Amino acid sequence: MDKEVNSFPMETILLLANSETDGSLGKPALETLGAAKALAAGIPGSRLLVGLTGQTVQPATDSIATCGANGFLGVAGADFAPSRYATDAAAAEALARAAQATIILAPATSRWNRTLPGVAQRLGGRVDAHVTGLSASNGQPCVSRWYYRQRMEAVLQRTHRPWIILVEPGTQAAWQGQPGTATVQAVPVTVPETSKRTTVVGVREPAADAQTIRPDASLLLVAGAGWTKKQSDGQPHVKDAEKLIHDCLKLARASLGSSKSLVDLGGEGQAVLSFLTHLNQIGQTGSTPRHAKGLATCCHGEEPHTVGWRFINERRAINLDPNCGWARGKADVLYVADAFAVMAKVNRLLAEKAGA
Ligand SMILES: Cc1cc2nc3c(=O)[nH]c(=O)nc-3n(C[C@H](O)[C@H](O)[C@H](O)COP(=O)(O)OP(=O)(O)OC[C@H]3O[C@@H](n4cnc5c(N)ncnc54)[C@H](O)[C@@H]3O)c2cc1C
Repeated sequence: MDKEVNSFPMETILLLANSETDGSLGKPALETLGAAKALAAGIPGSRLLVGLTGQTVQPATDSIATCGANGFLGVAGADFAPSRYATDAAAAEALARAAQATIILAPATSRWNRTLPGVAQRLGGRVDAHVTGLSASNGQPCVSRWYYRQRMEAVLQRTHRPWIILVEPGTQAAWQGQPGTATVQAVPVTVPETSKRTTVVGVREPAADAQTIRPDASLLLVAGAGWTKKQSDGQPHVKDAEKLIHDCLKLARASLGSSKSLVDLGGEGQAVLSFLTHLNQIGQTGSTPRHAKGLATCCHGEEPHTVGWRFINERRAINLDPNCGWARGKADVLYVADAFAVMAKVNRLLAEKAGA
């Protein structure tokens, strides 16, 4: 609980988001809008404003024109299209001041995560990142977030304003509604001199089908180091493993996770799956993704790995070892079987279903 006390009789909630290159609003922005609306509804007398930045902001504003906001503010122009600290921070600061916002909500994208702590400093405010829940208690806003690598959840209130809250994507229901027409109040921003130090020349990203981390996927497929180990014929079959995993990702539109051991093998120069990076690592020193279902393959299921499965609702694992970690209460279902054989059959069934 923040000890400094500033008393605000009325909350002005500002939803801060950037328009995408096609002028639309991304899902994390719509989720944060959903959360902002619910929060405003729980705080009597509060106002909800929307502040958008980007090359253009009118199409994005029109797409949420019927959301019930009390007003729309915008900072538009080519300078504000790319993700760049200097211009993003200047735009966010100007929008917050123009709105006289007491609470600022933004999606916890990499763009806002790196910008808004600095903006909080400029505004003399406070910031909380990785927020997974918002609520109002007796008309006072509260946020939930996890601590100690997702082991403890805390509910926080702050009296200091402005309060910037970065809302974790995938934790809130996205706002849905009809588009319309809304007037955007343009907020002037002087492009900072420091922005000239950084020129964004383009975006380099993997091709869509080479992208293996898909936060929106309903299935998380985890690959463990067992895929690279010697199999019953005394030989490793890494190329076969690569194809089986790749086909499953493609057919099931699944997201790929990995154990630390498999990721680390790459660093030791051993043959591993070519599309795997440390970003795929799940667990204590990796990520804690949110998916409806998870399937662990050739992975032992040790505690430092399974702690990253905290938010996977239904957990299944395939392992040759009936005494593996998954068998000790970590998985809902453990298939004691050869993952090479099981995944080949799963892929065949998925392909039949897809009519391929
Ligand atoms: C401080 C610390 C932090 C750590 N953080 C993490 C972390 O964030 N994430 C993480 O993953 N680990 C982490 N670890 C490491 C973790 O403890 C384990 O060592 C690691 O997860 C093991 O990886 P694995 O299960 O893929 O490999 P292994 O332990 O080698 O298991 C391979 C499994 O594959 C099975 N197998 C082999 N062939 C087949 C087959 N054909 N079909 C089915 N199954 C088969 C084997 O039975 C075996 O169970 C951490 C460790 C420490 C000490």
